[in-house]
Amino acid sequence: MSTFKAPKGTYDLIPPESAKYLAVREAIAAPLRNSGYGYIETPGFENVELFARGVGESTDIVTKEMYAFETKGGDQLALRPEGTASVLRAALEANLHKAGNLPVKLWYSGSYYRYERPQKGRYRHFSQVGAEAIGAEDPALDAELIILADQAYRSLGLRDFRILLNSLGDQECRPVYRAALQDFLRGLDLDEDTLRRAEINPLRVLDDKRDDVQKQLVGAPLLRDYLCDACKAYHEEVRELITEAGVAFEDDPKLVRGLDYYTRTTFEFVHDGLGSQSAVGGGGRYDGLSEMLGGPALPSVGWALGVDRTVLALEAEGVSLELPAATSVFAVSLGEEARRVLFAKVTELRKLGVAADFSYGAKGLKGAMKNANRSGARYTVVAGERDLAEGVVQLKDMESGEQVAVGVNEIVAELETRLG
Ligand code: AMP
Repeated sequence: MSTFKAPKGTYDLIPPESAKYLAVREAIAAPLRNSGYGYIETPGFENVELFARGVGESTDIVTKEMYAFETKGGDQLALRPEGTASVLRAALEANLHKAGNLPVKLWYSGSYYRYERPQKGRYRHFSQVGAEAIGAEDPALDAELIILADQAYRSLGLRDFRILLNSLGDQECRPVYRAALQDFLRGLDLDEDTLRRAEINPLRVLDDKRDDVQKQLVGAPLLRDYLCDACKAYHEEVRELITEAGVAFEDDPKLVRGLDYYTRTTFEFVHDGLGSQSAVGGGGRYDGLSEMLGGPALPSVGWALGVDRTVLALEAEGVSLELPAATSVFAVSLGEEARRVLFAKVTELRKLGVAADFSYGAKGLKGAMKNANRSGARYTVVAGERDLAEGVVQLKDMESGEQVAVGVNEIVAELETRLG
C-alpha cells in the first residue's frame, strides 16, 4: 500500500466491480439514445455564478456543498454539483435552440462533486447519467422522461423502486401558495435556521427530514390545493400518460427538491432497500431556468439518475447483471518460438473482435494456467516447441476441461466458429 488514500467521501472503481458501473451507465443511456437524445459533454467545472443562479443562492448545494475555488488567473469557478445548469448553459451558448428543432434533447454521463457528510450512498464524488429536453412545454415530454427512467431501471432488473410525483405549480399559482405556506410556518415552533429558510424558500421546509419538524407539518397547506387551472390540467395529463404507459407512480404532494429551478412536474425515484439515502434519481420541469441564465424563454424538463446508488440498489435486491466475460480466449506459450506464434494469433483474434489475452512475463506453465483460469476465458490455447514442430496448438475448453490439437493455421477460424 502506498502512503496515499482516496480522499474522504470518494472511492475508486476497480475491476471486477467497475464493470457494473459501466453496465449501469449503459443501461440508463440505451433508452435515451433510442428516443432522440444526443450525447453532450460539458466541463467538470463552470463559473461559480452559473450554479449560484441556476441551482439557487439559498440551496444547500450552493451554500454548503459546492467545491468553489479561485484560479491563478482570478476566475471564480466551482466543480459541477449537478448537470442541468451546465447543459442548458452549453445549449444556449451553441444556439442549439435556434436550429429550429425543439425540443433539443440531450443526455450526459459524468462525475459530480458535493461537499456532503459522507455515508453509505452519499459521496463527495459521484456519478450521474442525465437527460434534458429543452424548449418544449408538452406533458408528453415529461411523461417520456419518466417512462424512459422506469424502462432503464427495469432493464437492469430493479423492481423495488417507486416513482414519486408532484407538481410545483408555476409563476402564477406558486407565489399564492408560497405566501399561504409562509403564514402557516410562522405559527410553528421552529429553530432559527428553519425560520430563516421559511422566509427565503418555504417550500424547502416541507422537505425537512427531522421528525419534530415533520410532526408540525401535518396540516400544512398543500400546493395541490393551490394549483391554477393550467397547472392542474397539465399535471393531470402527465399522470394519465404515465398511467397509460403502464408505469406505476405515487402522488406525493410534499415532494419538493433541493434545487430552486423546478416548476410544475417534479419527481423522484426512490429505492426501498437503501436506507436513508433512498433517492436513486430525480428531476422535473424547469421552465424558468433559461431566463434565469440570461437566455430566452425555454420551458424544459429533465432528470438525473445516480449511478452509485443504482449499483447499491442492485446489490440490495440481489440482482446480478449478466456481464459479458472480459476475455474469451487466453493464450499460453512455452518457449520463444511459441510466444511469437501465439502473440500473432492473439493479435489476429482481437482484430476479428474476439476478446483475447496473453500470458505475459516469464512464468511456468502452472502460473500461466492460473492466469488463464482467472481471466474467465472460455478457451485457452497452449503451445510449446513440440506442438509447433507438429504444426498444432492445444485448444482447451475451460468449461469441460476437454483438450484437442488444432492446426496452427486453423486455430483462429476454429475459435471463431466455436465462439459463434
Ligand atoms: P439531485 O440532483 O440531488 O436530485 O441528485 C440526483 C441523483 O444523484 C440522486 O437521486 C442520487 O442518486 C445522486 N446523488 C446526488 N447526490 C449524491 C451524493 N452525494 N452521492 C451519491 N449520489 C448522489
